[in-house]
Amino acid sequence: SERKLAEAMEVNRSTISNVLDELKSEGVLISRGSKGTFVANNTWSILASTSQPNWKKYLDQGIHKPNQTTIQMINKYEFEDGMIRLGTGEISTDLFPTEYVNEIMSNITLNSLNYEEPLGYKPLREAICKYLSKFDIELKPEQVLIVSGSLQALSLISIGLLQPGSTVFVEKPSYLKSLHIFQSAGMKLKEILMDEDGIDLNDLRKKLNKSGTNMLYTIPTFHNPTGIVMNESKRKQLMEIIKEFQLPVIEDDAYADLWFSKAPPKPLKSMDDSGSVLYTGTLSKSFSPGLRIGWIAGSESVIERLGDIKMQTDYGSSSISQLIAFEWFDKGYHERYQIGLKSSLKSKCKLVLELLSTHFSDIAKWQKPNGGFYIWVTLKKDINMFKLFEDALKSKLLINPGYIYDFNENNSIRLSIAYATGSELEYGIRKLSEIIRKYY
Ligand code: PMP
Repeated sequence: SERKLAEAMEVNRSTISNVLDELKSEGVLISRGSKGTFVANNTWSILASTSQPNWKKYLDQGIHKPNQTTIQMINKYEFEDGMIRLGTGEISTDLFPTEYVNEIMSNITLNSLNYEEPLGYKPLREAICKYLSKFDIELKPEQVLIVSGSLQALSLISIGLLQPGSTVFVEKPSYLKSLHIFQSAGMKLKEILMDEDGIDLNDLRKKLNKSGTNMLYTIPTFHNPTGIVMNESKRKQLMEIIKEFQLPVIEDDAYADLWFSKAPPKPLKSMDDSGSVLYTGTLSKSFSPGLRIGWIAGSESVIERLGDIKMQTDYGSSSISQLIAFEWFDKGYHERYQIGLKSSLKSKCKLVLELLSTHFSDIAKWQKPNGGFYIWVTLKKDINMFKLFEDALKSKLLINPGYIYDFNENNSIRLSIAYATGSELEYGIRKLSEIIRKYY
């Protein structure tokens, strides 16, 4: 039996030499001429990499869908030096309320930095109730949950109140990041047409009759991306439909404060005597997106459920951010800051409208906004928008093409008046018109 074992262990010389050659070709071994063959220094990392899990498989199978390529590119190029950001939905850095924020930061007393209670820092929720009463929305602090930006409220709704396969009715076009959240949670989106006053109620009614009632997501005030405001009579009619169909509604009111000359009609939530509206708001557009402070208001049972999920998923929003937001409201800075912010946005909007008249009137149409950040520019001809996006990038212009808000859109661009400076807007809009003309 010893002989048999020896035979079984007998290895052919050429097999060994083949193995050595293979290890050399993979860089595990290196041959140093007459000095012999040595194990390479990085052998261990090479061996470790061959035993890695199959990350590709994991990357592909995750529940949350990746962003569209264009959006990934926008997220990346926003931070490239010298880029003129014609689509960014953020207040430009020169309008940031540095003095108020420094004042708050230097007077903050930190007794602790522990977790807050499940619905968030109570004095902040009280301050938000007081702030919302300006919009005729009367709430108790128990009906308000602090979230890390209002986008998070949509995630919580998706996983807390809906099932995969539920239908969410959305405006066509609509805010792209909301759409992704619903889609990744497995919701079916049903697009409802819009006209110049917002959602088309006949189309909504028709689709509700066919698809049953799940939830409606709407941005009635300074809609993203079109800037449209739903008029008062349409808001009343929409509330009637909502009651008739017992349809829960998410009202996204991110731009509520930002009117230029005349306040928009009061939010749907202020007319909500049936408890149908889940109302989301945020400090991202009227103060700071980096603070990550938003809120959702609704009936106590819904808010408690969403707060319970928030505790399980992130233990509440940053205590420091909540404290800053409380001081921001409590010291009256919010009200004061809006006055200057709105007047700057109003004059930037005037500038952009003038620039559009000069450089775009023969090639595009647009609506004059009365507030918010956006102008939806529709070209008179369909062009390859991705190609335009890439061409603009070569000239250091970053634009938000319409197809990221509406999957069939091939001739619109969302311009933002908020981020680029006056001189950037002057150069950028002229240059963009030159680039577009090459497609005509
Ligand atoms: N809703 C709308 C309509 C928005 O435009 C935005 C920001 N672009 C958000 C929600 C998200 O804001 P937040 O930073 O509060 O998550």
